[in-house]
Amino acid sequence: MQRILIQLDTDPLPSSFDRVVAIDAGVEQLFSYGGVTPQNVEPLVHGAMFTRKDLRFTALFIGGSDVTAGEAVLAKVLRTFFGPVRVSVMMDSNGSNTTAAAAVRAVARHLPLADVSAVILGGTGPVGLRAAQLLASQGATVRVASRSLDKAQAACQRLSRSVDAARLSAWETGSSAGLAAAVAGVNVIMGAGAAGAALISEDQWRAATGLCVAIDLNAVPPAGLAGIEPTDKGTERQGVICYGALGIGSAKMKIHAEAVRRLFTANDLVLDTEAIYQIASEIA
Ligand code: NAP
Repeated sequence: MQRILIQLDTDPLPSSFDRVVAIDAGVEQLFSYGGVTPQNVEPLVHGAMFTRKDLRFTALFIGGSDVTAGEAVLAKVLRTFFGPVRVSVMMDSNGSNTTAAAAVRAVARHLPLADVSAVILGGTGPVGLRAAQLLASQGATVRVASRSLDKAQAACQRLSRSVDAARLSAWETGSSAGLAAAVAGVNVIMGAGAAGAALISEDQWRAATGLCVAIDLNAVPPAGLAGIEPTDKGTERQGVICYGALGIGSAKMKIHAEAVRRLFTANDLVLDTEAIYQIASEIA
């Protein structure tokens, strides 16, 4: 039977990036739908559920630039399945799950995650939240940083509902004193701010004594963490191991493709943040 992937994209035009990865992951038939919402997705899911005898060969991929919209579509998809009549589904809106998984695996290459004390700058966005969730669920101590303390606190509350006994704290980085306090004493700094947002100067992040790993996920100049090159991939710079967006991006691509391949190994997989991280930890 041919492997059919049904791409449910919340943007009007389904992502060409996600389509290319699907084909490279061995998908034989790709059905791409744009403008997908919780209100219109049900018939598309029924079309996957009620057609083929072996449901392992049909799977769903939820994408699009709006991660909140993707989460709502995933929730509706899961409510549409019943009993064993279901197909596997992966959610990776805006690359949020695969990017966070790749970033956390980069940290794990250099430090046991239980020994990590990390600050995530721009930690309130979809990628930062997921990286914080994964680090916390692996036993790391995580500072969620935002220009607004209220936003950081709300993010920590949300995260503590999904990770038991998470060691999380909220930090304000809108002021230079707040930023200096947020990075003091950590061994990992991760920049997960918006594309093109400069988060911290090189002098400011280098002031963090004991820093081991610095990761900047932003590929759009200027850098989020000044002094890190997008192509850095385990590059040592004055004693700190650095990763830039392209350095993380190559692992992200591998994780994305492998997760798509895994969709076709069973008919009941739900590949969201933790499940995608599990796949990442097997291959990266
Ligand atoms: P996002 O939602 O656009 O932004 C994350 C956070 O950045 C926001 O919640 C906000 O936090 C902060 N922010 C926004 N504008 C800012 C500004 N002008 N100055 C400072 N901070 C600002 O980002 P995302 O979708 O989570 O993605 C995070 C990063 O990962 C982006 O740079 C994205 O391009 C990158 N990315 C990389 C890859 C890869 O393969 N390398 C893949 C996907 C995404 P507060 O308001 O709370 O401060």
